[in-house]
Amino acid sequence: MSPAASSILDGPRSKIRAGRGSALRARNWRTEGLLRAFENVLEVGENPAELIVYASLGKAARNWAQAKRIAQALLELQEDQTLVLQSGAAVGVLQTSPHAPKVISAVNNTVGRWSDSERFYSRAKAGLTIWGGLTAGAWQYIGRQGVLQGTYELLRIIAERHFGGAEPSDVKGRWLLTSGLGGMGSSQPISARLLGLSSITVEADPDKIVRAKAAGVVDVVAGTLAEALAALHEARASERTIAIALEGNAADIYQQVVSIEDLPSFVTDQTAAHDARYGYIPSGYTVTAWHRLREEQSEQVERDARASIATEVEAMLQLQAAGAVVFENGNNLRVQALEHLGAKESDRVAAIPGFMEYLRPAFSRGIGPFRWIALSGDPGDLAVLDDLAADLFRPEVTRWINLARTGVPTQGLPARSCWLGHGERSEIAARANELYAAGRLKAPILFTRDHLDAAGMTNPRIGTENMRDGSDGVTDWPLLDALALAASGADLVAIHSGGGGYSGWMQSAGVSVIADGTSEAETRVRKSLDADTSVGILRYATAGYEDAAHIAAESDLLTWFDTEEAPNA
Ligand code: NAD
Repeated sequence: MSPAASSILDGPRSKIRAGRGSALRARNWRTEGLLRAFENVLEVGENPAELIVYASLGKAARNWAQAKRIAQALLELQEDQTLVLQSGAAVGVLQTSPHAPKVISAVNNTVGRWSDSERFYSRAKAGLTIWGGLTAGAWQYIGRQGVLQGTYELLRIIAERHFGGAEPSDVKGRWLLTSGLGGMGSSQPISARLLGLSSITVEADPDKIVRAKAAGVVDVVAGTLAEALAALHEARASERTIAIALEGNAADIYQQVVSIEDLPSFVTDQTAAHDARYGYIPSGYTVTAWHRLREEQSEQVERDARASIATEVEAMLQLQAAGAVVFENGNNLRVQALEHLGAKESDRVAAIPGFMEYLRPAFSRGIGPFRWIALSGDPGDLAVLDDLAADLFRPEVTRWINLARTGVPTQGLPARSCWLGHGERSEIAARANELYAAGRLKAPILFTRDHLDAAGMTNPRIGTENMRDGSDGVTDWPLLDALALAASGADLVAIHSGGGGYSGWMQSAGVSVIADGTSEAETRVRKSLDADTSVGILRYATAGYEDAAHIAAESDLLTWFDTEEAPNA
């Protein structure tokens, strides 16, 4: 393929297709792989014409001129050069070394007193910054699959903890009430289906519902709660699991659900509630009016959104009191509700746990949302990696791979989300490296992860809520992680801070590394992926988690965790 065929280089467009095949456009696979990943987040993203990937405003680059410049730079980058990105813009190329990262990126990091949403919106409007999401600006997004396994594991753990087991027979007759069929939210009905659980997902935007139906994310569409319940009951009578999209506003529908007889067993929400201006449609607004009013009367829209979120949260509390398991699904819903209700209500709202209540045991063992992308675009390459993962690791991993290979629809370049831990990630990457070198794969594999990982994330309302040592808001760990990743020669290292509604709420680090079949790549994947999980283990060990301390001692990371000399003891 000639350089000119790079779809980002062709300029603004509503459809982007990532490069595929075994021919290089760039000088080597490290940069070709990153270019394909960049194209892929736009191929599977929500609004490529505006470079928006997911989470309301999460963008892949500052603007189209910068997107083209970045793509061009990736094509030209030499072995001993590193491209420097600042808030989605290519600002320079450094002479480094063949062992240095190919791309280093910092997105929207500001000192604390600048980290408010007003300043973010005005700087973003002036073209000076972007919200990079977690994986949008670092080109690690793989569509809804990125959170699909996380939601599946979460529902599974809830079923085991509260309903006696996670077999289809344990959740039979139960259902999930949730909302949001956007980039990430549309993973929810599929995760529920994989568990044998029926779902009703409330979505206010009819276009999102049409898309979800066409993609097989939901089975049927209902216009009213009564219609949705009728479909649920019909499926239950014939012993089927069903995924229903319900057109409506979550604030309105959740209030209605409180007074029905057949209450949901699982209740959450994955609208983009973290952003009261651009992410959550207030009750009573049409989508068209919302798009206009959020620019013209932004403060009113924010007030209305927060009032609606508070109404929805009140309904969730009532459903919890009636016996449902209610949790926040990583979107700052409780923070927004409290902005409306006032701090006096914080104890009441805190009765709704965040999802880390269920996922922390995995994180404290360094296990988290790892993923890989077959750069060839060939599903056969993904199948080789699926076989490898199913073979190499714990029975839970085999179970997931077997479910995912049949139950998870692909989007963009073939990719797999697979929760792996310390040592496991580097092992599969090194094996993939060997397989490509041996001609068993058509092109190299890119390994990456969600920023929401043991080391990579600080967000005191999401990934690091209720840490044992109170370090919920400490950002040392993702920053140390990024330093360790750069020191170990990962191909892309990114540090992101929150933008929009997440302003002031998060700091994260991201990594991508490509197994291109060379011995240098073997060193890079082993060292960087081990460094990443090591920092996660050290973080949790330092915070007082015994599992992490045990792994730290076993892996010779540091030995003093057995003693009273631990820094935060
Ligand atoms: P998105 O912007 O692509 O989609 C949001 C969807 O919510 C849209 O389809 C919108 O129409 C719908 N919506 C908004 N207000 C509504 C309302 N009142 N009633 C019904 N539907 C409404 O966002 P996304 O990528 O799906 O992400 C959703 C949220 O999940 C974000 O806050 C994001 O930050 C968060 N997130 C969490 C994790 C995680 O921690 N696991 C991962 C990724 C994203």
